Amino acid sequence: MFFKDIIGQKDVKHLLLQSVKDGYIPHARLISGIEGVGKLPLALAYARYLCCTDRHEDDSCGKCPSCRQFNKLAHPDLHFVFPIINRKKGSSKDLYCDDLLPQWREFILKNPYFSLQQWSNFIEAENSQIMIYARESDEIIRKLNLKAYESEYKIMLVWLPERMHPSCANSLLKVIEEPPAKTVFLLVTESPDRVLGTIQSRAQRLSVPPIDEASMSEAVRSIIGQSGSDSEISNIVHLASGNYLKAVDAITASEDRQRNLELFKSIMRNCWRRDVKNMKAEAEKFAAWGREKQKAFFSYAGNYVRENFFYRFNLPEINYINADETAFAVNYSPYITEKNVISLIDEFALAERHIEANVNPRMVFFDLSMKIAVLIKK
Ligand SMILES: [Zn+2]
Repeated sequence: MFFKDIIGQKDVKHLLLQSVKDGYIPHARLISGIEGVGKLPLALAYARYLCCTDRHEDDSCGKCPSCRQFNKLAHPDLHFVFPIINRKKGSSKDLYCDDLLPQWREFILKNPYFSLQQWSNFIEAENSQIMIYARESDEIIRKLNLKAYESEYKIMLVWLPERMHPSCANSLLKVIEEPPAKTVFLLVTESPDRVLGTIQSRAQRLSVPPIDEASMSEAVRSIIGQSGSDSEISNIVHLASGNYLKAVDAITASEDRQRNLELFKSIMRNCWRRDVKNMKAEAEKFAAWGREKQKAFFSYAGNYVRENFFYRFNLPEINYINADETAFAVNYSPYITEKNVISLIDEFALAERHIEANVNPRMVFFDLSMKIAVLIKK
């Protein structure tokens, strides 16, 4: 992670860079802000910059031995503490952060913007709460007593100190009060008020604001590509309210919607033409989708039929369809009438229940297509 990879946060980046140039390196920073604003990426870019042996004006060099180790998050002077599960399934061995370090590195390197829930899913915590256990304090102290291997600074990055067991937090406090020389604590928190008060007061507070709209628009466009319309992008940026994770969720939802619309269009064309061969081919494809997606499609289709019925009344305030859905509705809506609207909606709902009840999806899909072929011409 480099400063250049961070979405927005110009002022925070500037502050961090400037502090290093001024030689002002607080021994503990509490980096706070809501989810999805880039606190962990900022902490990582800052740690890299501190250790870089050939710092450039605005970022680390990317080439020195320290930077190369940072590329794999495997710098010997960079230590991580983060919430984990107590034990692996079927094992009686208590886990330490270091046991999950390979997964932690892999997860961050794939995408440093993530939520506690995503991390928790990744390590298969299932329903158990993950936390930083009391036993971790011995490890923290042991690592701080190691002498710095290669760089000038030893860095202890704690992700979500609010999830720390109180006895571990107390040991951490003691070392923060009397830190070993050239040690930097980076505490990345979403709930600074839940961090031990005495730790808060000994750390330099750095608040990371929501991501600004211009930077978020740029990030959204880089995901959805040039095909995204301005209104679609501004919609997503608005929904995200400065949280990049929310933006990604909104993009995924809009991709699901697009996929459902394409299938719906294809079903309607096949049904209108009574093209049995293509109906069968679509049923095959649909069967490979997975149950949740299949159910979501039927639910979507029922709603979209209803929207098409209302579309003819020309009441935009009760219509909830996007530009692509509207484009199809222009020609399709005349076929949804008082004679078939209720039956069509009922058939999609029935298909959804059948999927829920584990009926063969090919059969559900094909039967439904045959019924629509009749209903659509009523
Ligand atoms: Zn470097």
